[in-house]
Amino acid sequence: MQIKIFFNLFLFLMLIQPVALSRANDQLTAIVSILPQAYFLKRIGAEHIDVSVMVPEGGNPHTYEPTPTQLKKVSHAQLYVKMGSGIDFERAWMSKITYFNPDMTVCDSSQGIHLLEMKHDDPDFAHKKKDRHRVHHHGTKDPHIWLSPSNAIIMVENMKSSLAELDPAHRAIYEENTRELVADLLDLKQELSSHLETIAQREFFIVHPAWGYFANEFHLKQRAIEDFGKDPTPRQLTKIVHDAKKLNARIIFISPQFNSKNAKVIAREINGTVATIDPLAYDYINNLRKIAYMLGRP
Ligand SMILES: [Zn+2]
Repeated sequence: MQIKIFFNLFLFLMLIQPVALSRANDQLTAIVSILPQAYFLKRIGAEHIDVSVMVPEGGNPHTYEPTPTQLKKVSHAQLYVKMGSGIDFERAWMSKITYFNPDMTVCDSSQGIHLLEMKHDDPDFAHKKKDRHRVHHHGTKDPHIWLSPSNAIIMVENMKSSLAELDPAHRAIYEENTRELVADLLDLKQELSSHLETIAQREFFIVHPAWGYFANEFHLKQRAIEDFGKDPTPRQLTKIVHDAKKLNARIIFISPQFNSKNAKVIAREINGTVATIDPLAYDYINNLRKIAYMLGRP
């Protein structure tokens, strides 16, 4: 959206619909970028917080643009929990969002998390490094931090600190809810570790490489089919098929937000199947558990 149209649309909405400043039943209004953050924040804040998510179910955080209604909501929110790891939605929109609501507290959930480099599987990458970095859709760091339970725990603690600061009256509740959530995340990490350490197939093939932190946490290796947001070249496709055959891979993973055409081609070549794993599901704990068991299938 052009910046000028964006501003005009926003002013227009402000004029036609004056907003009541009092909030229903004293809930704290908070906005997050993606659904897993909404899950964490709701578990911490429970009934004391009203959480809205910017990138809706099925939306792609690399390309999503907010609707005017969402921006209006943002302009009256008290808290924005950003991922902070460089996801494209925030790179494109955070400065506009804070411009419209300069009083809003912004919590950077990535604070204290070590960002990993995006992995480069392409053997030609070294020669093309300069070129690649120019077109790279993520920057050079991997933004998908939330998919490791250890990182999720750090994010949750950051969210709790912001909530407790904004609403000290409910601090004890936020701390208790956070303790429970962290315990669940530690259980999840333990369960997934014991399951994943037993599987023989340590490498998995996926179209959009969202699972770098997950792979890192559980000592697996993610192989991207997409080449930094672009379709692989025929030469890259051939190499992936060759490697997948050599490793005896049976499943090519896709995400609901991304094109599965190449995955189907590869699956056919290796006599395997395509399976969907969603990096953005709301029900974080059950989703990660489900995925761990899909990766671990014989
Ligand atoms: Zn992504």
